[in-house]
Amino acid sequence: MLIDHLPDLDASRPQTFSIGRLSDKSWPGPLSARDNKVRLGDVMDVLDDYYVSVDPRAKTRCIDGRHDPELDEGMLGPQVPGGAPGSALAYRLGVDQDDLTRGTFTGDAELMIESYLRLGLSPGGHRDDAESSDGVGCGAIDGLQSVLDCMTNPRLVEDHKRLVKTILDADFNRDHYLRVMGAGLVLQSRSLGYFHGRGEILDLLERKAPGSVSMLRGSHHEAYVVVNMVEGTTLSSNRFAADHGGAQAFGYDLWRSRQLVQALFPLPSHHIDRQRFIHARVMLTIATLMALTDGSLQVLVRLPAEG
Ligand SMILES: [Zn+2]
Repeated sequence: MLIDHLPDLDASRPQTFSIGRLSDKSWPGPLSARDNKVRLGDVMDVLDDYYVSVDPRAKTRCIDGRHDPELDEGMLGPQVPGGAPGSALAYRLGVDQDDLTRGTFTGDAELMIESYLRLGLSPGGHRDDAESSDGVGCGAIDGLQSVLDCMTNPRLVEDHKRLVKTILDADFNRDHYLRVMGAGLVLQSRSLGYFHGRGEILDLLERKAPGSVSMLRGSHHEAYVVVNMVEGTTLSSNRFAADHGGAQAFGYDLWRSRQLVQALFPLPSHHIDRQRFIHARVMLTIATLMALTDGSLQVLVRLPAEG
């Protein structure tokens, strides 16, 4: 299906590359792309039309592809897993020098939201309207324990490392990867305590940044994962789904994680912290996709124009 698709050779525009399905194996998550009818080549041809400039004042969005009735395409915030609170676990695993036997996710997420506000980055998060959901409705927050289980699952580790390596490309560092993996394993031993009360984080976010919590509607139909490296751009998720028969995409604006680390760790001496945080963030993103999907979604990488 890819073989018949020749990439667009106009180097003055961002380039989209396909790296195939997330996995050839079956992952534990429930979400599948098996019923998706839209051709991959057709999505690649038009993907750029669905990327718009972010508005720095707009709240950070989750990678969730579901419909947000209040979304304003002229004022979209970047997409990262779990929104702003989602960065907290990457900080804990990648950077924090504290003993991993202390702390809670809620405490870490509160510090992360405060950092966002201090740095002039607009935090954001979301709930959903699913009546059955017994958490807040954001898979990247509710599923954190399974995310950690997936990341440290020996059956999944080959897939995990392969994808993290592909996405980080030349920035991949084996030592950082192993360090974050080890921290994940240590934290997993007390994950019940660490994640206890994590649902409260959205109330806290709403208090600290009024209007920053969105409410997503409908059900999950993600068939694609797009890792976007083009700074300042983000996926118009509502329009993408509307024009593709309801097929949605998980959009991860990786450039935003790099922007966040540059703001959190600005000094030259913070170089290692920046690298470790990015590793942890990408590692947790892949583990989140393992917890949410069966591995059948197609992965696209969007890179900046050359030169
Ligand atoms: Zn979410």
